[in-house]
Amino acid sequence: MKILVLGGAGYIGSHTVYELIDAGENVVIVDNLETGHIEAVHPKAAFYQGDIRDRSFIDSVFDKEADIDAVIHFAANSLVGESMVNPLKYYDNNLCGTKVLLESMVAHNIDKIVFSSTAATYGEPERIPIMEDDCTAPTNTYGETKLSMEKMFKWTGKAHGLRFVSLRYFNACGAHISGQIGEAHKPETHLIPLILQVPLGQRDHISIFGNDYPTKDGTCVRDYIHVTDLAQAHILAVKYLMEGNESNIFNLGNGIGFTVNEVIETARKVTGDPIKAEMEDRRAGDPAQLIASSDKARSILGWKPQHADLEEIIATAWKWHSTHPNGYAK
Ligand code: UDP
Repeated sequence: MKILVLGGAGYIGSHTVYELIDAGENVVIVDNLETGHIEAVHPKAAFYQGDIRDRSFIDSVFDKEADIDAVIHFAANSLVGESMVNPLKYYDNNLCGTKVLLESMVAHNIDKIVFSSTAATYGEPERIPIMEDDCTAPTNTYGETKLSMEKMFKWTGKAHGLRFVSLRYFNACGAHISGQIGEAHKPETHLIPLILQVPLGQRDHISIFGNDYPTKDGTCVRDYIHVTDLAQAHILAVKYLMEGNESNIFNLGNGIGFTVNEVIETARKVTGDPIKAEMEDRRAGDPAQLIASSDKARSILGWKPQHADLEEIIATAWKWHSTHPNGYAK
């Protein structure tokens, strides 16, 4: 297969490219390198630097790269906090970018797209575990734009015959088993890389945002899913579309929740460092618990996460961060 990966230099995008190339697929990457990293671009992939909001650029990629079977779309901004401070940046990049992309896909008769969505489309969950047909009421601009992108695929599909798979990730984490690529956000906002900054000597302590939630130890519960397992789901989703199946939406998580305290304790075990933790107020907008039901992805896509063990997940993250303490920066 020949797959165009938009945002293939980003965290989940680069891991998906590595899995596609390992599986013998032909990969073309588009990335504007605003948040992605040139070092994360797989050497065996064709690479075009540019922005999906630029119609002539994206047209030129489809013109040069004939016979693209499907698109995997990661090219978006994804920081919840930033999306609340600068919502129009998110509407512009995430929604306007996807609109231009879809216009170009329709013009070039490319009719299959796998989309990087998020548990943030649900907002405050009405039940645990969360099912795909549960209510979607995002509590931040980031989640709202991702939900709107899903709807854009739906209506474009009805008019133009495009089919899509939307993958709603829970807490993506970990790094490639080789330690060559991993998570590198600036600023970093995610729990596991922040915890690992303590043993790296880059942070004095990890802050725990709230210990009065209705959970077993009072700290928030999340469903942590390894980035390579997410990557595999994208490949299965492309195959699902190639087999002619209808558009669909799937949650991706392990179905197991860990509290913030449990994650810190596991990181202490993996790193051998005492990792100081301090209690702070709740972070605005954090639901107490987010746990996926991934039964649908398991039964329809045949997805089986291979790295569900939290210790293993954190060990892969530690291998990456301890050998790249400044991310991709030299
Ligand atoms: N968290 C925390 N301290 C931090 C960063 C995150 O206690 O410095 C908590 C956060 O409140 C949430 C969990 O860790 O309950 C995971 O947060 P993250 O930002 O990694 O992902 P989110 O669940 O917000 O997508």
